[in-house]
Amino acid sequence: MVPQIRRRRSLVIQKKFLNKFLVKPGKPVYLKDLDPGWASHKDLLDKFGEERVMKLAKKILKRNLENLAEAQNLLWASDTYGVLVILQAMDAAGKDGIIRHVMSGLNPQACQVHNFKKPTNDELDHNFLWRYMKNVPQRGRIGIFNRSYYEDVLVVKVHPEYLDHQKLPPGIKGENIWKHRYSDINHFEKHLTRNGIIVLKFYLHMSKEEQRKRLLNRLNNPAKHWKFSDSDLPERAYWDDYMKAYEDALCATSTEWAPWYIIPSNHKWASRTLVADVLAGTICNLGLEFPKISADRRKRLEAARIQLEGEIEELAEGTMSA
Ligand code: ATP
Ligand code: MG
Repeated sequence: MVPQIRRRRSLVIQKKFLNKFLVKPGKPVYLKDLDPGWASHKDLLDKFGEERVMKLAKKILKRNLENLAEAQNLLWASDTYGVLVILQAMDAAGKDGIIRHVMSGLNPQACQVHNFKKPTNDELDHNFLWRYMKNVPQRGRIGIFNRSYYEDVLVVKVHPEYLDHQKLPPGIKGENIWKHRYSDINHFEKHLTRNGIIVLKFYLHMSKEEQRKRLLNRLNNPAKHWKFSDSDLPERAYWDDYMKAYEDALCATSTEWAPWYIIPSNHKWASRTLVADVLAGTICNLGLEFPKISADRRKRLEAARIQLEGEIEELAEGTMSA
């Protein structure tokens, strides 16, 4: 019995489209050349019209969530691979919405989410990868990192004074620290994939204007005030520095074994659909199988079945003679 999860071709994003979002290892990344509103791209709209593109994306998302639920079941049963999903983005780019959607159809026993905020004193007393290593998903599970060790080459690069809190030995904080960290990250991710943990990384690419609208929306809606953080505006002022830090990190750490996808995220329905499609496609393509049952065990299962069926017959006889 080899149940392969069938993904209907008409409800799957074609590989050639997905490849547009993949960062080729070593290739420079220029974020300003990539359209964060890709889903409203002229070619696509001319061909289908916005209404149809959005409807189709939602249909694909729904189908992928069904595929994902089946795939997760196999991932859990076969207990060989784990999947680590890394989400990185500027504030308000939609990480939470993606997590909510992707997790919506999953078995809670087999998935986990970790949000990484500013490191605590205890975390700063360890090597920078320590707090992430501890939370890598085990085999059979899907783990999502809402921010990740990439913050240590992003926010920390934009605010180098944060390095002072990291208590590094003399000589480490020179210009080469970022190159060394990219290298540490690449080796860490190689280690994970060699051990059966698949690493998928998504940068949610949103325009500065879209962020302005979303932050304003949070301020204009009292039910969303809690989402607005005092650091949102000060960090927004560093937008260009963040874009440069992202470009450098995406280029240096997109590898054959742990690729980056740059997901156009000005439209939430587009980013959710794309992330769910890559995730479902990756797990479905692993060719997983339910664990094989030996002939001996099959015999024992058959004996158990006969015993349980016998109980019904005994019960029926008991009821009739009573
Ligand atoms: P939202 O997108 O809704 O704003 P968020 O992920 O930004 O959610 P927040 O609680 O607003 O969550 O912010 C977490 C903060 O922690 C971010 O500003 C991030 O840069 C910071 N942070 C995460 N990891 C590190 C790190 N290693 N060093 C310093 N700051 C970090
Ligand atoms: Mg924030």
